[in-house]
Amino acid sequence: MNLIFLGPPGVGKGTHAKLLMEEMNIPQISTGDMLRGNIREGTELGLEAKRFIDAGELVPDSVVIGMVKLRLQAPDCSKGYILDGFPRTVAQAEALSGFAKIDAVVNLIASDAKIMGHLTGRRVCSRCSNTFHTSRLKDEKVCPDCGGALIHRDDDKPETIARRLEVYKRQTEPLIAHYQETGLLRNVAVESSLEANHEAIRGALGLTA
Ligand code: AMP
Repeated sequence: MNLIFLGPPGVGKGTHAKLLMEEMNIPQISTGDMLRGNIREGTELGLEAKRFIDAGELVPDSVVIGMVKLRLQAPDCSKGYILDGFPRTVAQAEALSGFAKIDAVVNLIASDAKIMGHLTGRRVCSRCSNTFHTSRLKDEKVCPDCGGALIHRDDDKPETIARRLEVYKRQTEPLIAHYQETGLLRNVAVESSLEANHEAIRGALGLTA
């Protein structure tokens, strides 16, 4: 199954994509993780992306489209994949339809208050990229999964969060109507517990226990 997870920053796309990835044994493809990986490795692409990410802006379409197109050709994508954070613009969605056949688009919905709480309390492991919320951590500095250092992403700080949410509304939200028209959209409210939200996503995709 080829899936897209759509929704504002901080709604839980990465968390839920990872849960489903483990269950379905298909890769989660997070453009944010890929871009941060490039920044860590100091690649040319990473250098170009960094100034946009730091400012809370989107990285140019041409950069991310090329990156995803190449990634989807890898053998681990042959049985399906979960796109997390891509597409983020209508131009990206249109390009994607030229090289991928998407089966469903899961649109995660939560209140602004819940999203702000998620983003300000989010910590990311600098080694394994897993994300955690401070409310579920004993030690805010150490990854409970791999022991790597947990960081508070610069773009999860209040000034940049406001910009990212604005960018989402202007550039990414139009994708909801776009995928509604194609009949692929599955709206899922994620206001309950992690487990209940995960079940709701499974239900929306017609996956039974
Ligand atoms: P994320 O980890 O998905 O929240 O992404 C972090 C940042 O990476 C975003 O705020 C953008 O600057 C950039 N980014 C990630 N995915 C995309 C995309 N599909 N298009 C453009 N920029 C992206």
